[in-house]
Amino acid sequence: MQKVIQVNNQKLKQMAHYYSQFSSKKVPTGALFSISSGSATVTGYYSGKVMFQGKTASAEAAKWQSNSIHSLDTPKKMSTTLPADFANWSVLGSDEVGAGAYFGPLTTAAVYVSQENLEWVRALGIADSKTLTDDRMKKIAPQIIAKLPHHVVNLMPEKYNQLQPLHNVNQMKAISHNFALGKVLDKIFPITPQAILIDQFAQQSTYFNYLKNAKQQRIIHENVYFTTKGEQYHLSVAAASILARVVELDAMSKLIVEAGIKLPIGAGREVDTVAAELLRRGIDLKHYAKLHFANTKKAERLL
Ligand code: MN
Repeated sequence: MQKVIQVNNQKLKQMAHYYSQFSSKKVPTGALFSISSGSATVTGYYSGKVMFQGKTASAEAAKWQSNSIHSLDTPKKMSTTLPADFANWSVLGSDEVGAGAYFGPLTTAAVYVSQENLEWVRALGIADSKTLTDDRMKKIAPQIIAKLPHHVVNLMPEKYNQLQPLHNVNQMKAISHNFALGKVLDKIFPITPQAILIDQFAQQSTYFNYLKNAKQQRIIHENVYFTTKGEQYHLSVAAASILARVVELDAMSKLIVEAGIKLPIGAGREVDTVAAELLRRGIDLKHYAKLHFANTKKAERLL
């Protein structure tokens, strides 16, 4: 008997953790784990496909199809895929902003927060970084810059538009994260962080495929963890998100001065109107905006 289910990255890791108590089998190519529980063989692939074989295949698969995973007799209860006490580790975190905005750059930052600096960062009051105002972030960012090892990749629209036909947005994000992380690792060498935490925007396997396909010479993969809402799991991601945001805001201010017109954030109707106005003035949008967004066509139509 055979049964195949599809799970997300987080569930896959949860499963790997759960099944680590069983005896391991030879792991096939593309698989994260393969185990035998006696009456069933379970193989989990990075693609999210999980194959159950054997007498109890269906029953075993059913455990994971329902949302009742918490009732499972797991060796350790896991709310996330991160190790316990992760928040107190020395972590290099990264996050990006601007991917959903028509005007302005795609900005990615990586920040290293060692255990010794955790208290200092906590005192900045950035744990809830998503709720901070722009003004507050502008006050905090210089402190982060002065104290913590960091690197920012600021992909301005012109460069972005050059890369975009060849690389999709998530691939550009992956390249930016990988580059920023590598720069900070160089800065703190010979110290190595206990972990790297990337605010997740793609499945782990997809992220690394992007880097492979982009033929990145140096791929940072050791001790790399992914989670959405990363800023809630380590202050390094909160710090990175603030830094990225402030660099983005700064770049936007400069673009606004150059354009001589307020450039709205986001990708809504107001954005179309301003883009159309820039076109009317004979201004080339490629310097200001991510051209592949539907806003470009809408602006041309408005004109
Ligand atoms: Mn993010």
